[in-house]
Amino acid sequence: MASVRFERVTKQYENGYVAVKDLNLDICDREFLVLVGPSGCGKTTSLRMLAGLESITSGHIYIDDRRVSDLPPKDRDIAMVFQSYALYPHMSVFENMAFSLELQGVPKADIQQRVKQAATQLGIDTLLDRKPKQLSGGQRQRVAVGRAIVRNPSAFLMDEPLSNLDAKLRVQARAELNKLHKRLGTTFIYVTHDQVEAMTMGSRIAIMNQGILQQIDTPQTIYEQP
Ligand code: ADP
Ligand code: ADP
Repeated sequence: MASVRFERVTKQYENGYVAVKDLNLDICDREFLVLVGPSGCGKTTSLRMLAGLESITSGHIYIDDRRVSDLPPKDRDIAMVFQSYALYPHMSVFENMAFSLELQGVPKADIQQRVKQAATQLGIDTLLDRKPKQLSGGQRQRVAVGRAIVRNPSAFLMDEPLSNLDAKLRVQARAELNKLHKRLGTTFIYVTHDQVEAMTMGSRIAIMNQGILQQIDTPQTIYEQP
């Protein structure tokens, strides 16, 4: 559970390119916000700055009024699912899901229990001994989600998490993510370049273009515009 605030955040890469310009964005506790815009408009950069994977050139980011811009990723209580899933290929599904909890020093019995519970919720509890290469695309996507939710993060970031699925699975996974959001009651921030996808998910949509936040509103209001 967390609110997130970007305050005049700018990112200029080392080569001089300004990927995000003066971003002001308030995301409420438990909100499901979709960040949408064409490829290259600065969506991934914004998520990576929030997660602490990319430095900020100027401005600040707050989580629950705590300034996190200077904190390392592990102290931000945030989990992120990447487009490529980034599963560890040599580890089983169980080990993939348990890894971050082991790093945090969570006791073994708790890890067992939390991984089993998350895996059951996602319908992957029979796959725990498999390696990623023995899974379908849809199953890998669930493992990536599972690996993030076992940590009980206060904010859950997703960067085009469904783009590697076929159209039918994508529709199903969208509905499941909406349900998962309701069940977890955690702040979700979801990045996509797909406007249709943006309209079917989330409670508010933030539209970005060329590094600038252009509009932020409910899907209904954005739809109704002439
Ligand atoms: P999106 O997620 O919306 O596709 P990104 O945040 O990945 O956009 O990228 C925004 C812009 O910044 C793009 O033009 C991209 O080429 C550029 N960019 C991304 N990473 C770097 C980097 N490390 N160095 C220079 N430019 C980069
Ligand atoms: P149902 O959809 O009938 O609830 P499932 O076994 O398909 O049963 O999924 C159980 C729950 O796990 C869903 O309600 C959803 O919250 C979550 N879930 C399943 N698959 C995914 C997925 N691919 N991505 C995110 N959440 C998922």
